[in-house]
Amino acid sequence: MLSINLRHLELHEIRLKGELAAAGLDFDLHDEMIRAEWPVCYDLTVEKLDDALLVTGSLQTVLDCQCVRCLKPFEQRLLLEDWACHLPLTGEEKVAVNNDCVDLTPFVREDMLLELPQHPLCKPDCGGLKKGQALKTGGKDVATPSAWTKLDKLKL
Ligand SMILES: [Zn+2]
Repeated sequence: MLSINLRHLELHEIRLKGELAAAGLDFDLHDEMIRAEWPVCYDLTVEKLDDALLVTGSLQTVLDCQCVRCLKPFEQRLLLEDWACHLPLTGEEKVAVNNDCVDLTPFVREDMLLELPQHPLCKPDCGGLKKGQALKTGGKDVATPSAWTKLDKLKL
């Protein structure tokens, strides 16, 4: 858990630097091509504004991916270099405070999830599987002829 004590922020900003175990972040990944089991390294500065906290800095981790084209496993670095998170302390959107502490973990998790690759590729121009290795095609190709049939009917 990555949390900050508001009392420590009264006088000056706080620098947070360290590692967060992937287990603590509990990425709920539905994509079987990506696994996030490496720790997340954080280097953050937390400032107290009038009625909010401002967290800025960098987050990075390594993902174990599988290429969607050639199925080769590879590691991909995920870096959020200019991460910024604004956490209101008042109002409807205000952040939860427990014993003067604010847990940053859910915000880190949420923003890292947004940055995960949608379709991991071992290299941008990966040629994919060689012929003969190709996976069975799904329903898409089968649907095409019937679409053409419909168009032909419209012409008549
Ligand atoms: Zn590949």
